[in-house]
Amino acid sequence: MLNELDHLPDGLLSLPANRLYEILNGPTLIHLQGRHPDPLFVSVLLHGNEDTGWDAMRNLLEKYQNSELPRSLSLFIGNVESARYGSRHLDEQHDFNRIWIEGDSAEHQMAADIVEIMRQRNVFASIDIHNNTGLNPHYACINVLEHHFLHLATLFSRTVVYFIRPEGVQSSAFSQLCPSVTIECGKPGQKHGTDHAIDFVEAALHLDHFPEHHLSPHDYELFHTVAIVKIPDDVEFSFTNPEADLLFINEIEQFNFRELPPLTPLAEIKNSSVRLEAWSEEGYEVADRFFENIENRLYTKLPVMPSMLTMNEEVIRQDCLCYLMERLPAIA
Ligand SMILES: [Zn+2]
Repeated sequence: MLNELDHLPDGLLSLPANRLYEILNGPTLIHLQGRHPDPLFVSVLLHGNEDTGWDAMRNLLEKYQNSELPRSLSLFIGNVESARYGSRHLDEQHDFNRIWIEGDSAEHQMAADIVEIMRQRNVFASIDIHNNTGLNPHYACINVLEHHFLHLATLFSRTVVYFIRPEGVQSSAFSQLCPSVTIECGKPGQKHGTDHAIDFVEAALHLDHFPEHHLSPHDYELFHTVAIVKIPDDVEFSFTNPEADLLFINEIEQFNFRELPPLTPLAEIKNSSVRLEAWSEEGYEVADRFFENIENRLYTKLPVMPSMLTMNEEVIRQDCLCYLMERLPAIA
């Protein structure tokens, strides 16, 4: 299912994400030559509704139309089909940012093929560009606690999140080959998100090599994802309807990247049996560690910092309500 090209098709850069299907047959990997031969790998639109990555890359490539790229670039344009409809992925598709791991589907095979192609091309570094739906600062995620990864991440933001779950994400697969990051550029359609992504990719293209010196602990703030919070399928939730099993408080998105003290109220609950699910990195259900119900209210139990809290009901059902993080010390 992978299309592979060694040039930019005519007219491609003029198309927004929802019209890429007019020129591209499906997921497409485009190799472009630059001065330094080892390529930077950039993936965009692994989630079809997150178009900041594509907007950043088409702006950046427009700029280099008549000049040589400082480094070769391999650009993977992921879910062209779901981008057409502005959705994360279509119902019959796998999530394109969960397929970078062993699996039986054509999508898993495509991801494995891309990793192998980039291994043979001696990939220099990897960047996967995303948006999210809640109010979040821009931040970079790494899957390996190592200085080259941190160096790449801090070219984008001083806020760095380390995680190993969910599995099957692009940055995790590429971490076997080179420094890799996932960047979260806020909500789609914001110019400062696009500009930030352009600056970052351009900085990475200009990076000759990763420095051997270690970053100062003052240069970044490091967080670790300790749990993924989901709402059980049989629990009705709402941000407005008082009849729902779970009625979240209104300003919940404001909690992203804020260290919440114990007993912070999160929702009204219809009865005391209504529960969230929280899955630890080891795959255990640990909701009782983080949340408690007191008199028809759901509270935090420990100091925690949420990220990616969203009020988008489709995203909550397809992915999760939020992640919970704890602060990590700087790495040695
Ligand atoms: Zn995404």
